[in-house]
Amino acid sequence: MTEKLFYKDSYIEEFEAVVLGCEARISKKGEKEGYEIALDRTAFFPEGGGQSGDVGWIQGVEVIDTKERGGVVYHRTKEALPCGTHICGKVNFEVRFDRMQQHSGEHILSGLVHKKYGYANVGFHLGEDATTLDFNGELSKEQVEELEKLANRAVFENVSVEVCYPSKKELLGMEYRSKIEIEGQIRIVSIPGYDVCACCAPHVKRTGEIGLIKVLGCERHRGGCRMTIACGMRALMDYRQKQRSVSEVSVLLSAKPERIEEAVLRLKEQQGKIREHLNRMQAAYLEQKLMEIGEDAEQVCIFEEDLDGVAVRNFVNGAMERCKGICGAFVGNDENGYHYILGSKHMDVRGITKEMNQRFQGKGGGKAEMVQGALSGRKEEIQAWLLENG
Ligand SMILES: [Zn+2]
Repeated sequence: MTEKLFYKDSYIEEFEAVVLGCEARISKKGEKEGYEIALDRTAFFPEGGGQSGDVGWIQGVEVIDTKERGGVVYHRTKEALPCGTHICGKVNFEVRFDRMQQHSGEHILSGLVHKKYGYANVGFHLGEDATTLDFNGELSKEQVEELEKLANRAVFENVSVEVCYPSKKELLGMEYRSKIEIEGQIRIVSIPGYDVCACCAPHVKRTGEIGLIKVLGCERHRGGCRMTIACGMRALMDYRQKQRSVSEVSVLLSAKPERIEEAVLRLKEQQGKIREHLNRMQAAYLEQKLMEIGEDAEQVCIFEEDLDGVAVRNFVNGAMERCKGICGAFVGNDENGYHYILGSKHMDVRGITKEMNQRFQGKGGGKAEMVQGALSGRKEEIQAWLLENG
């Protein structure tokens, strides 16, 4: 069994120990995957309680992960160290502290949710990018805001985080979260006034060290909800990134940062008006085109760079009333291809559409009276082909 220094003090960054074992790891595919080093004592926390295994260095050899099996902590490395070597271990404390901040922050929020709404934390993921908490009940936006406020009050109060190892008998009389049957000693992490929970991971000493606890989002998830949070430096980085976005949008909109929402709404309103205006213009333009079609027109074919789909269809419908042959509208350009509508009141247009698609690498189809699709080719060639074959 490895002596676990992280349980004596979660702030031990450097320690001395002796290598007790060093074995090559073989992957399931039979490939060599570095080494697993066992020490007589370690400050490296192995994966557990939702928190990943520590990274760092043993005698300058990089530790990429830490796992525990049967009470022995294994340090995964790329290089070997001989048994009996006296080593100096160094936990990457920047990574560890960040994880402790997220994890302690999670306990406060989960404790508050449990206390106020009776929901249990049914899933916890502490990733490098995001920390998520799953609860077996839904929370409204207002409830989340209130919880966030209370969680940060716990931070300002700088409550001490206490760890204890109660006996089986003492446990029976205790109220705590994460009651699952575990063999052996149960470790209880308490944040007085906020949470009592069974947990095997290292935590900060006082809640003030967590820094800001920010809820980034909370959405419905499997009958309950999933909350995404950021604590400490992660919350600061998130704030910084969002502030940068707001500043940039504010410059683009020429609006004060606190008024960008208004500015975007105004912009959307303007856009709607422009679209309406454009639609009217297009309709008038196509109406004009329609008037130009002679009573005895044999074929109608227009090419336009950019037109609204509904307006184009209206045009073809109108043209079909006036023209004996095929009525076609092509929207696009030679470079990117054309969307087309073909229609006729007097003939089945599906046959010619098939031929046209073959000739111009197109696709599409429809009813005898009207088809639509897309093709690529040069305007002059399409026009000439239609005139000849239509
Ligand atoms: Zn925990």
